[in-house]
Amino acid sequence: MKPLSSFPRRTYVTQPTPLQPAPRLSRLLGGPEIYIKRDDLLPGAGGGNKTRKLEFSIGDALARGEDTLITSGAIQSNHCRLTLSWARVEGLECHLVLQEPAPGAFDPEAGGNNFLYQLLGADSLRIVSGRGEAPLAMERLAGECRDRGRKPCVIPVGGSSPVGATGYAACALELISQFRELDLRVDHLVVPSGSAGTQAGLLAGFRGAGYELAVTGVNVSRSRDLQEPSVYELALATASRLGVESPVPRESVDCNGDYVGPGYALPTPEMMEAVGLVARSEGILLDPVYTGKAMAGTIDLIRKGVFRKGQTLVFVHTGGSPALYVHMEAFRRRYPPPPATDSAGNER
Ligand SMILES: *Cc1c(COP(=O)(O)O)cnc(C)c1O
Repeated sequence: MKPLSSFPRRTYVTQPTPLQPAPRLSRLLGGPEIYIKRDDLLPGAGGGNKTRKLEFSIGDALARGEDTLITSGAIQSNHCRLTLSWARVEGLECHLVLQEPAPGAFDPEAGGNNFLYQLLGADSLRIVSGRGEAPLAMERLAGECRDRGRKPCVIPVGGSSPVGATGYAACALELISQFRELDLRVDHLVVPSGSAGTQAGLLAGFRGAGYELAVTGVNVSRSRDLQEPSVYELALATASRLGVESPVPRESVDCNGDYVGPGYALPTPEMMEAVGLVARSEGILLDPVYTGKAMAGTIDLIRKGVFRKGQTLVFVHTGGSPALYVHMEAFRRRYPPPPATDSAGNER
């Protein structure tokens, strides 16, 4: 594998994120020893995994002399929020193409990431229907930017190109050195799997370093049949960019589609359970769209005996907690408010 220093890169990740033991959660579940990789604590407004990809995606854009970022995601997109956040740091223009799941779903007054687009000062939002329309909408927007004399860079949905996924190959190397420091033998790594770059980058990185462990992706939008080929293809392309000699084997790509529920970003009871359990045992905020469902899958696979006592499991916390505030009503129903009194002890 080529040294990562041979690729254009900005330095946004100034130190390794914690690999934190979760002893209370592990005890409650009665399965493997769980460690949480705290990529939710990565720098960039609100934190989360897209910062690692953007080190390389924006590094590439700046190396080409580009001055305007265009990207796309769902109406509540962590990727759009973080692209915008780093655009502010770099002094770049930033335009977002937001995909509505249904006509009229975009609400300019919505909370969560949508509010943060406004606070971080997005240069424009363009609302399109569904996923299919986004690439064309981004190209059209890029044309308009060129007409104004700008030099646009189109970053694909989720930053999931071989360039972006390189950020998660870097994370694999960071994890390997943390495993060595803590003298850990890791059996399983669990990661949410959406636009595929995180899982693909990790697979390419572990392969490149010759480190063997089972990586389980928990899908957040697609079935196993659709997600595995997409992760596999990107893992191969990323490994090839990195000059990894032995290709990623197809059997190492495992994308579990059992925890998506009714669809992308739609809550499930198991997600609500997992978010509450991790908040109340470890004081860590998961998110409703990605890590909540990935943890719901982890819990179920422990109950089914796939992940077992005596093993060590690393759960990659990819961030996303701003989206919790989009689902406040549902969480409030599931987790009733604590008793509140005034100073005289009367109920408030
Ligand atoms: C984007 C995202 C993911 C999924 O990563 P992909 O590389 O798109 O598969 C997981 N968690 C959070 C919080 C995200 O924003």
